[in-house]
Amino acid sequence: MESTVKTSASEREIVQVKNYKIDTLVFTAGFVPFCNVPVCRATCCYWGVYVDVKEREKILEYKDLILKYMDETQPHDVELWFEKEEWDDADFPSGKCVGTNVYNGKCVFLTKEGYCVLQIAAEKNGMYKWALKPFYCCIYPLTFWEGVLTYDDGHAQDLPYCGINAVHNHAGPVVEICKNEFVYVLGEDGYAELLEIYKKWKQENSNISGVK
Ligand code: SF4
Repeated sequence: MESTVKTSASEREIVQVKNYKIDTLVFTAGFVPFCNVPVCRATCCYWGVYVDVKEREKILEYKDLILKYMDETQPHDVELWFEKEEWDDADFPSGKCVGTNVYNGKCVFLTKEGYCVLQIAAEKNGMYKWALKPFYCCIYPLTFWEGVLTYDDGHAQDLPYCGINAVHNHAGPVVEICKNEFVYVLGEDGYAELLEIYKKWKQENSNISGVK
């Protein structure tokens, strides 16, 4: 897993929904209408992801099931799935995370067709589609940074289809496009509250370039 750099939370404009602090970057950053894997080839998965150590435990618990859906471009040796080093990070529930390994130039869990084998294994076995998928993969392009829910602009620097420099492909701001990801974190009521805040914020900031 490779790291990206973001500005400190203290330098950003924050709004609050329930107990969550949310960066207004999600009001201005753009995103594509949906994740079009045949077009983007899941480039966002090429660097791997940091997962909570508890998520690693759960994935390893289901290793036999996951192995059934891995292809020849993925490591069938479970020892190769995760980096050895654990990191202290308060943006993870247990306070400790670990990176998935990169293998053949992509996250170990990415199939050659560009789909996450953790989601495939869950869906094929009657589980909720995100039951095995790491939290930060489920909410992408959102992320938590220093306790603030924000747009992952660091990761988006290098993504040619949906990223920060692919403005020509963007269909609207992250807050409008990424409903499922926000609902996953905030719940339906929390997302509705965020949209109300966004509406007011837009009226107050209509003079800022990029705010429509
Ligand atoms: S765990 Fe799955 S969704 Fe997350 S980076 Fe790896 S392949 Fe992509």
